Amino acid sequence: MAGFTVENVSKVYDGDLPTVSLQHINLEVRDGEFLCILGPSGCGKSTLLELLAGLQLPTEGEIRLDGAKVQGPSRSSGVVFQQDASLYPWRTISQNVGLGLELGGMRKAERQALVDKYLSMVGLQGFGSKYPHHLSGGMRQRAGIARALVSSPNILLMDEPFGAVDHLTRLQLQNDLLRIWQEERKTVVFVTHDVSEAVFLADRVVLLSPRPGRIHHIFDVSQERPRKREDARLLKIQNDIYSAIYDVKTEADLEFTI
Ligand code: ADP
Repeated sequence: MAGFTVENVSKVYDGDLPTVSLQHINLEVRDGEFLCILGPSGCGKSTLLELLAGLQLPTEGEIRLDGAKVQGPSRSSGVVFQQDASLYPWRTISQNVGLGLELGGMRKAERQALVDKYLSMVGLQGFGSKYPHHLSGGMRQRAGIARALVSSPNILLMDEPFGAVDHLTRLQLQNDLLRIWQEERKTVVFVTHDVSEAVFLADRVVLLSPRPGRIHHIFDVSQERPRKREDARLLKIQNDIYSAIYDVKTEADLEFTI
């Protein structure tokens, strides 16, 4: 079991002008589902993910992970960020992927076996002895995913993990992530501002609207897998989402980057 209950959560950042990043968010993240959080820049997607990860605490309301209040980072959650900067440049890919296990005191042989298993799962077999700067952006994101998976979290929290890679690499990474999700049966929460990415990946798409960040609508994407990107039913959901975004835009009179 690995799911979140988000209950009436708000997050306000202090400052000369306090920013209400999220307001009154209520959401269930179900065990084993692939949930996408979608919305324009600044609508609170990263904030919501950081709250789920326990990297920040809500100003109001409560988040529970399998019934227990989230009060800090948990070993149940592996986090993948957009920027590969989170890989240490002076450590090899294997040493980066195995860092958490090393800090946890796991013996080298056992650690290496796990690192090799996950490098292979993300398509990086043979690259363990390279350094991050030897790898392309897409490969570094693969390494980030391996590093999140290696400690066997039940949940993957991903913040625009494919936002900085070229389009074709991005499509390949999406396919690979879906394969890994199906093999490993994790719960995935995936932040994106790309409508087609959200619809291709998700069981449900949570559309946020900005200032303050609120849930505008939750879209069910019940199409069977494997999906075809050109499936008319998926395109219909994409169009529904674009219409909803247009509503949000009209309401808030904002420029959207979607
Ligand atoms: P998104 O991921 O959708 O782009 P964010 O969660 O990064 O949105 O930001 C939501 C809002 O909260 C924005 O207005 C942003 O400027 C503000 N914000 C985010 N992090 C901080 C912070 N650490 N301090 C102050 N304001 C912040």
